[in-house]
Amino acid sequence: MLSERAKKVKPSPTLAMDAKAKAMKAQGVDIVNFGVGEPDFDTPEYVKEAAAKAMRDGFTKYTPVGGIDELKDAVVNKFRKDNGLEYAKDEVIVSCGAKHSLYNIAQALFGPGDEVIIPSPYWVSYPDQALLNDAIPVFAATYEKDNFMLKPEALEAKITKKTKALVLNSPSNPTGLTYDKKGLEAIAEIAVKHGIFIISDEIYEKLVYDGMSHISIASLGKEIKNKTIVVNGLSKSHAMTGWRIGYAAGPKDIIKAMTNIQSQSTSNPNSIAQKAAVAALTGPQDFVSMMHAEFDKRRKFLIGELNSISGICCLNPNGAFYAFPNISKLYGKKAGPRQINSSLDMALYLLEDANVALVHGEAFGDDQYIRLSYATSLDNIRKGLGRIKEAVAKLT
Ligand SMILES: *Cc1c(COP(=O)(O)O)cnc(C)c1O
Repeated sequence: MLSERAKKVKPSPTLAMDAKAKAMKAQGVDIVNFGVGEPDFDTPEYVKEAAAKAMRDGFTKYTPVGGIDELKDAVVNKFRKDNGLEYAKDEVIVSCGAKHSLYNIAQALFGPGDEVIIPSPYWVSYPDQALLNDAIPVFAATYEKDNFMLKPEALEAKITKKTKALVLNSPSNPTGLTYDKKGLEAIAEIAVKHGIFIISDEIYEKLVYDGMSHISIASLGKEIKNKTIVVNGLSKSHAMTGWRIGYAAGPKDIIKAMTNIQSQSTSNPNSIAQKAAVAALTGPQDFVSMMHAEFDKRRKFLIGELNSISGICCLNPNGAFYAFPNISKLYGKKAGPRQINSSLDMALYLLEDANVALVHGEAFGDDQYIRLSYATSLDNIRKGLGRIKEAVAKLT
C-alpha cells in the first residue's frame, strides 16, 4: 500500500529516545534529560509581544509564499551584518523551520541517482531527506583526531560524476565542532573545482565558544557563494523551536524553485511567527548573549566532569550545545548480566539504570559515541553527571 518512498524513511531516532524518556517520566521516574535538541530558555518577551501585536492587528492571513518583505529585509540585513554576505531579496526564502528549508533544497536539487555527500557523524535528517528525494546519501567519515572536520582528501575520495552536493553543518550537531577558516577554504576549493553544491546548515551560528568565530563558507569568495545555499533559522538562536521559522539564501534560480515547491506544499510560513521573527532579528540581541554565556558555563562544567570519568573521553566542543564523548573504551564491560557493546547498549543502560536520557551515537552514524545536550540547567547537569559516574563505576 505504501510508496517506496515512505518505506525508505525512519522516524527520527533522537525523537524516539526522547519519547522513551518521556514515557518513563510520565510513570513518575525522575529522569535527567540530556537528550533534548532545543534551548531550555523561553522565547524572549519582546518576540512574544510582536506576535501578540500581529494577532491584535489582524495579521492572520496568507502572506507571500516565501515570506513577507519585512522579514526578507531582516534576513538580508542579518546575512550582511553577521556573515558579510550580500543577497538580494529574491535570493532568500523563509520556510517553516530550517528543516523545511533543507527539505525544499533537497526537492529542488536532488533526483534519482544523485549522490549527496554527508560527513559523519551527521544530523539525523540529512540522509533521510536525501532518500525521500530519490538521492543517495554518501557518508564521508570524520574523526575525533581531526576535531571532526572533513579532510579535503576524504571529501575528494567520495566525489563521483553523480555527486550533486555536500551537506556541511558548522557548528555541528552532534559533535559540537566548529570549522575554522582553513578547514572551510579547503572544502570550498574542492567544491568549486568539481562544481558541487554546498548546503550549509548554520543554525548554531550564534553558539560558538573559546574565542572562535562562526564563518559561513559562502563568504569565502564569489565562486563558492554561487555554489552554496546557506540555511539558518530562529529555533536555536532565539529559543523559538515551536514557532517554525527558518530561512535559506542562495542562487536566485534555486531559491525560486524552492519557493515554487513551497507554494505547492505548505504555502507561507505562519504569518504571526513571521512577525515574531522580524522582532527577533531586528530587536536587541542581549538575549542571544545571555543564552550564550549560560551555555558556555554549562559546557565547561560538563566537559570537565565527563573527562574525569575513567573510560570516557570528550573532545572540547567549541559550538552548539552538545558534548559528544567517546565511550568505546567501556565496550565489553558488564553491569550484572548486561553487557555494553554499543552506544545503544550504553544509552539504554544509562536510561534504565541511572535514569539519565541521552542519544546513542549510532543514531548520528558513529557507534563509538553518545550525545549529551547541555540545554538543561547546571543543577540538572550536576545531578545527571553524578548518576553517570556511578553507573560507569559499576561496570566491570
Ligand atoms: C535543530 C536543527 C535544525 C532544525 O531547525 P528548525 O529551524 O527548528 O527546523 C536544523 N539543523 C540542525 C543541525 C539542527 O540541530
